[in-house]
Amino acid sequence: MIAGSATIGRLRLDVRGVVQGVGFRPFVYRLASELQLGGWVRNSPAGVVIEVEGPAAALEHFRRRLAAERPPLAALHGVDCARRAPAGERAFSIRASRRDGRPRALVLPDLAPCADCLRDLRDPHDRHFRYPFTNCTNCGPRFSIVTGLPYDRARTTMRNFPMCPACRAEYENPLDRRFHAQPTACPVCGPRLQLTTTTGRTLRTGDPALLDAAEALRRGRIVAIKGLGGFHLAVDARNQQAVRELRARKRRPAKPLAVMTASLAGARILCQLSPLEEQLLASPAAPIVLAGRRPGDLAAGVAPRNACLGVMLPSTPLHHLLLAELGFPIVATSGNLSDEPICTDNAEALARLGTIADLLLIHDRPIARRIDDSVVRVIAGQPMMIRRARGYAPLPIDAADDGGDTLAVGGQFKNTTAVARGGRVFFSQHLGDLDAPRAFDAFEDSIATHRDLFDARVAKIACDLHPDYRSTRYAESHGAALVRVQHHYAHVLSCMSENALRGPALGVAWDGTGYGLDGTIWGGEFLRIRPDGFSRIAHLRTFRLPGGERAVREPRRSALGVLFELFGRDLPVDPGFAPPERDLLLAMLARGVQAPVTSSAGRLFDAVAALLGLCRVARFEGQAAIELESVVEPCEEAYAGAACDWEALVRAILDDIRHGVDVGRISARFHNSLAEVIVHAARAAGEERVVLTGGCFQNRYLSERAIRRLRESGFRPYWHRQVPPNDGGLALGQLVAAARE
Ligand code: ZN
Ligand code: ZN
Ligand code: FE
Repeated sequence: MIAGSATIGRLRLDVRGVVQGVGFRPFVYRLASELQLGGWVRNSPAGVVIEVEGPAAALEHFRRRLAAERPPLAALHGVDCARRAPAGERAFSIRASRRDGRPRALVLPDLAPCADCLRDLRDPHDRHFRYPFTNCTNCGPRFSIVTGLPYDRARTTMRNFPMCPACRAEYENPLDRRFHAQPTACPVCGPRLQLTTTTGRTLRTGDPALLDAAEALRRGRIVAIKGLGGFHLAVDARNQQAVRELRARKRRPAKPLAVMTASLAGARILCQLSPLEEQLLASPAAPIVLAGRRPGDLAAGVAPRNACLGVMLPSTPLHHLLLAELGFPIVATSGNLSDEPICTDNAEALARLGTIADLLLIHDRPIARRIDDSVVRVIAGQPMMIRRARGYAPLPIDAADDGGDTLAVGGQFKNTTAVARGGRVFFSQHLGDLDAPRAFDAFEDSIATHRDLFDARVAKIACDLHPDYRSTRYAESHGAALVRVQHHYAHVLSCMSENALRGPALGVAWDGTGYGLDGTIWGGEFLRIRPDGFSRIAHLRTFRLPGGERAVREPRRSALGVLFELFGRDLPVDPGFAPPERDLLLAMLARGVQAPVTSSAGRLFDAVAALLGLCRVARFEGQAAIELESVVEPCEEAYAGAACDWEALVRAILDDIRHGVDVGRISARFHNSLAEVIVHAARAAGEERVVLTGGCFQNRYLSERAIRRLRESGFRPYWHRQVPPNDGGLALGQLVAAARE
């Protein structure tokens, strides 16, 4: 007999995906109530469990609408459905969470305030008027306050703020936007702002603290502001003296500073924005977007000699209130000394930022883990992650093949760690350079987070081949089975994985430094990827780096190495050394002592930037390449004879310099020639699919040119989007390599 639509049935639905902390249970409650179904919903370690009871037709509607009408931030990765015996339940309820089984529910990243919360913030009749910590199920802090799963207030850093009756009523009302919004708070019961001196003396609390902080910024002062995942250091971005002072105190002489503006309208004044760039800026992740800058009244010291500006919109109600109060953009750079991890704790901030800031705008909601601002750049019409952190971590990335129960510990610089689970890869947030003080603590904390929040079990550890990376040494000391993965192979697999590409393919891995199979420094690699491994089918011509590591800081050393390779001691030009030092370095080159061999594309960029006189001594990592890209005057010309052997290229550049050709033109020809080198190598390899990866492909001009030329030549180029092309993406490739073992 076929069951009629009036037959009462009962279903149990196990829902997996992004379903906690996004208003999913209230949505289920409303849907079930509307359809007059009985039953219950509750969070589980795996996601959400629902039991619904009622007429068969209504149950079918419920199932369909559950997926179709889910809340905007929710994502369903799977729904298991089973029949149950009806229990005669008529009413629907939301049940308390249970903690059992392996936690697999996804923790959301921290999200910028939603439109409704911003409206409350500006409404004098609302309880949350001008309250810097307001949030709801659609927005607010998440990963930065979570201490355990399932996601409940008791397992966040909000546990010490008991809700007032008004907040409690909203929290318990399934029809309210703040229903079960775990960090919900108001001026009566929630965290409070505090303005303090650098010795920790409280000057003001509440709204007056914000107003006085704004006044200090107007007067050119440096204010440390506690944000979601850490502190920002802020100054008036138009005030040259204030920016200079911030740079001096932070010991960051030249590296570009990010700017925060109140609104998209403000961002449009600073930068030339495409619709996609605007969309990224206004997205809940609120990343720093690197976009072409417009001439304007920003202080020259914000991003000197850079055609791009890192711009972002406010990421919390606090930043919204402050920026609205100011009416001008601020520099908002991470609150740390140069190269150290961002500061999170109030006491730590006083100790570490007291010498940099004039005042501190802090509050009493603890930060569970440090999370930097994310950085995104649009390349070839797609967003490319440069630094994946706030707003994105810890959302997983879909991976083509992953290594279950493997921990990947990443590289040494721009470190991230990752674990895989069920076809998804969970990345840590950007952790920074592991040799910086305190960075290694952040690294170990991130591994603990994988264990505690994602219940990752570690049977294997994948690490870089480099014996001296701190991540490698951690892996070695851990006792689990070890998989050592060549650096550039990991870069290529990372890019292939996020493009769901299994191979064969030609990997073009261009970066600054990576430990090669032969013990030399690789970095201009063409790797043929097979299902079981790779072969290095070509690489850029090698040269020696006088002084080794020091060449990273001194592009002129790369220039000297390149010139020596072509001309020996008879240098046609001087790359900017005093004669005694030059002779010493030439002696090192001639004898091959302290002058390691490299095929690095990054060092070739350095060499050209130094030869052009743009950047002989770098004051931050990547400066030479950034300046070389910044001066490009786009054109179609390339130097003849494009090949992995760059001799003809360098000789042509020296000719152009001698003939006084404009630097912007030379730079464009150089970039264009490198794109031809890639096309040339692709032809020689005979692989249709070409994978562009490594830090060099953060360069927009190079990437877009290579993509276009490869397409014109009949190849299919692939590049990074969700995972950084730089060493921040290595962990994904390490996982894939471990899975292929
Ligand atoms: Zn909201
Ligand atoms: Zn309250
Ligand atoms: Fe690299």
